[in-house]
Amino acid sequence: MKASELKITDVRVADIDGLPKHMILLKVYTNDPDIIGYGEVRDASSATYAKMLKSRIVGENPLNVEKLFNRIKQFGGHSRQGGGVSGIEVALFDIIGKFYKIPVYQLLGGKYRDKVRIYCDTDVDGKHTGTDMGKALKKRMDDGFTFLKMDLGIELLYDEPGTLNAPVGMLEDMQKYSMKAICHQSGSIDKSLMFGKNYDIFTIPHYATGIHITEKGLDYLENYVKQVRDVIGYEVPLAIDHFGHVSIEDAIRFAKRLEKYNIAWMEDLAPWHMTNHLKKFAENSCVPLCTGEDIYLAENFEPVLSAGVNVVHPDLLTIGGLQEMKKLGHLCEKYGSALAIHMAESPIAFMAAIHCAASLKNVLAVEFHSVDHPEWFNLINPAIKLENGFMTVPDAPGLGIESLNEKLVEKFKKADCDEPWKDTSEWDNEWANDREWS
Ligand SMILES: [Mg+2]
Repeated sequence: MKASELKITDVRVADIDGLPKHMILLKVYTNDPDIIGYGEVRDASSATYAKMLKSRIVGENPLNVEKLFNRIKQFGGHSRQGGGVSGIEVALFDIIGKFYKIPVYQLLGGKYRDKVRIYCDTDVDGKHTGTDMGKALKKRMDDGFTFLKMDLGIELLYDEPGTLNAPVGMLEDMQKYSMKAICHQSGSIDKSLMFGKNYDIFTIPHYATGIHITEKGLDYLENYVKQVRDVIGYEVPLAIDHFGHVSIEDAIRFAKRLEKYNIAWMEDLAPWHMTNHLKKFAENSCVPLCTGEDIYLAENFEPVLSAGVNVVHPDLLTIGGLQEMKKLGHLCEKYGSALAIHMAESPIAFMAAIHCAASLKNVLAVEFHSVDHPEWFNLINPAIKLENGFMTVPDAPGLGIESLNEKLVEKFKKADCDEPWKDTSEWDNEWANDREWS
């Protein structure tokens, strides 16, 4: 088939859950039966964000990825709302690579490295000590991982008297309504968190909870980190996420305690758009600051980078896809910040992140959540194989995914969603006046 004859013919989705998160797999079909583009909507998102784009791209030539991205860009937004646009963009790059029989990294300008470092997110359920966490992290090191991240947050202090103070009732509400959200790393955000009092508590920004950590609380958390370092040593980088919704001043007080423990970064200590808070942290602490997994479009990183964020943490399925990630890479060079790629999704998003990381100059590592779920690795053919905490950049066409393991898609299909790959013709006539100006 000539390049000018290639057309998009259909878009279909499959919601799966349990490996460990809610993931939305995407297929973009073409009039070449051998070419299907694989994409994915951001974790814990809605397939609607992709399906509503179907009528805007069917009939178009998928090779014109920039033109199509600009057509659908207005339907993306921050966090999960970026998922549809980003997922389609990734699938179009997969199609282009398959059509011209070249890997996606080559379409992005070639590669800086042949293998990409994976950093392993680790958490320990329930009440536990820094020694327990240290042992869990040590196991990751024994498996070959060379970069580590742990969750460490104020929920460890809820039942430690005299470690937190807060407006009366706030700590009780946090425990009652949002513990599931705080401790969500091994599972999915579920629907119940998005309604009623759960939603109200889940969405209070850091600066508005009124929760403060006492000196006793800081002692407790510092000792936890010391215990972790006592087990894992100082050879490997260790990042911290999910500190909790406390003011930036309290985050600074804790960061000062952590400087001697060589922390790779502290993540999302304030809402990313509160650049005055980010700036205050950056100017008052020597622990690197990281944010960015909820930012749509590279241009929206510029205020964050100029506030002094040292490590940006974009998610390919929120930022807008591969081209936006490349733009961000160039912005990071301008500001002297490193990239760590956020990734909490399926092997489709993982492979896209690997191609992207290979093509970017200053990448620390790609995140990984599914090390304890062996079936995650087999969701695509050929299956994912990590070696000593690294992923070799594939040379096969497109993302390097020949097919999905449909038996596993069926096994892990999400209970309250449509059947995998169900007909989407109900979206064929969706339209609006899409002109963004008059
Ligand atoms: Mg995070």
